[in-house]
Amino acid sequence: MALTSSSGRPAARPRKARGEGQWALGHREPLNPNERTKKDDNPLNVRARIENIYAHRGFDSIDPQDLRGRFRWWGLYTQRKPGIDGGRTAVLEPHELDDKYFMLRIRVDGGQLDLDQLRTIADISRRYARDTADITDRQNIQLHWIRVEDMPAIWRQLEAVGLSTTEACGDCPRVVLGSPVAGIAADEKIDATPAIRAIVDKYVGAPEFSNLPRKFKSSISWLADMPYEVNDISFLGVDHPEYGPGFDLWVGGGLSTNPMLAQRLGVWVPLGEVPEVWAGVVSIFRDYGYRRLRHRARLKFLVADWGVEKFREVLEKEYLGRGLVDGPPPVLPDKPLDHIGVHAQRDGRFYIGAAPVVGRVSGGQLLQLAEVVAAHGSNRVSLTAYQKLLVLDVPQESVDSLVVALRGIGLEAQPSTWRRGTMACTGIEFCKLAIVETKKRGEELVARLEESLRDMDADITIHINGCPNACARTQTADIGLKGQIVMGPDGQQVEGFQVHLGGGLGMAQGQTAGFGRKLRGLKTTADELPEYVERLARRYLDSRTQGE
Ligand code: SF4
Repeated sequence: MALTSSSGRPAARPRKARGEGQWALGHREPLNPNERTKKDDNPLNVRARIENIYAHRGFDSIDPQDLRGRFRWWGLYTQRKPGIDGGRTAVLEPHELDDKYFMLRIRVDGGQLDLDQLRTIADISRRYARDTADITDRQNIQLHWIRVEDMPAIWRQLEAVGLSTTEACGDCPRVVLGSPVAGIAADEKIDATPAIRAIVDKYVGAPEFSNLPRKFKSSISWLADMPYEVNDISFLGVDHPEYGPGFDLWVGGGLSTNPMLAQRLGVWVPLGEVPEVWAGVVSIFRDYGYRRLRHRARLKFLVADWGVEKFREVLEKEYLGRGLVDGPPPVLPDKPLDHIGVHAQRDGRFYIGAAPVVGRVSGGQLLQLAEVVAAHGSNRVSLTAYQKLLVLDVPQESVDSLVVALRGIGLEAQPSTWRRGTMACTGIEFCKLAIVETKKRGEELVARLEESLRDMDADITIHINGCPNACARTQTADIGLKGQIVMGPDGQQVEGFQVHLGGGLGMAQGQTAGFGRKLRGLKTTADELPEYVERLARRYLDSRTQGE
């Protein structure tokens, strides 16, 4: 007999709650092809197949499940076949976009490189990567044109100097961001490097976290000199009135098509407990994270659904077995810290932050950098989360000549606003998801704006992205550009950008971190981009309020 409601109409059947693929709730059977690939074989195992089989038999011998899935766990993505325009990105099958060469991501946890490491990356770039090298906005270095045949030799070289590509991509803990001035900054109270080291040594490449629902992004730093609000987990330095310096814990940030800011759990974590708490949060993500739909599989969706109170309770009760100490919010800087220019270290030496254009360097340039740095009495550099680099530990007497020498190799320590504030993702040159060109357009844009608005006395950030995935953080710039196909002046479809305005992160003191607004109809063709940005900048200069 059919059930009826009080209105006499047939009552709706109670809807069966649909699982989100959470392991902790019993959804162990893979619910999509990505989950199947991970279950069939631990992705870390592909390293042995690359070394023993694919490197000898070549690209065509690679199992497609490895090629488009598990290779990522070792930092390898196939790069885009040249000559396929952005309009065809969405309509072609993935294999039609695959070139036989790879992008290789080298993780630099904490962002610090000694000169042996720098020379090694430079050598690999020149030997195997056609002299390419990009500094990413997550303190990685990416090389291109890599052949699978060369991977065993590349790993040998990298690992001999303590570098790795382990879990540089894939559904696992990616590079851990750290302050590029950790251990030397005058206003730092705790150097977080030991916590980063402990996490990388114990958990990166460990089977327990090699199958997460999706990627997991971390940062651990005393200073707010990185985009901590858009990571899955961030530890940020804070002084507790009773317990002293420690870290404030944030969870659930992320960008892409559903951007969300990380939220504070309201706890204070001492340095020694950071790895344990980090592992607890990753375990929640592994066990309760949504695995059914890829676009809902980031931690931010779980945090949004649970709320921070429940998240903290589960962390404490199920994973740590103890309560955490309540903590105050951190004191944040007035504006984002990018460390460009010359700055005093706490030990009396100096560090110099210099800007390539949109993060693009080359192996040759990195080799020159190593020589210049060594000649000026330093032994190390660091990478920032803004596609820039720093030379650390410079004696005072060498500062001026090093600034000149850096300029001589294309690294500017006194850059224009435009060079300083512009980032670009990989884009259509190499990325299979891209719709538009980014790096070259970024270089042209900076050159053009340096000519037309050279003496601009305002900091304006521009983030150029080749698609909605927001790898160069579209929503966090004053002018965020999201690549898409737009209507050209003659009615034809051309490369262009959706514009987001007014985003900003990494600051406080009356400033509220927030995402830029996407305004309907605010689009530009790629060809008109320089004029468009110039107009926007002039309008801003004319109408800004005092002190803005
Ligand atoms: Fe590729 Fe899009 Fe990310 Fe740019 S934003 S690197 S085009 S996926």
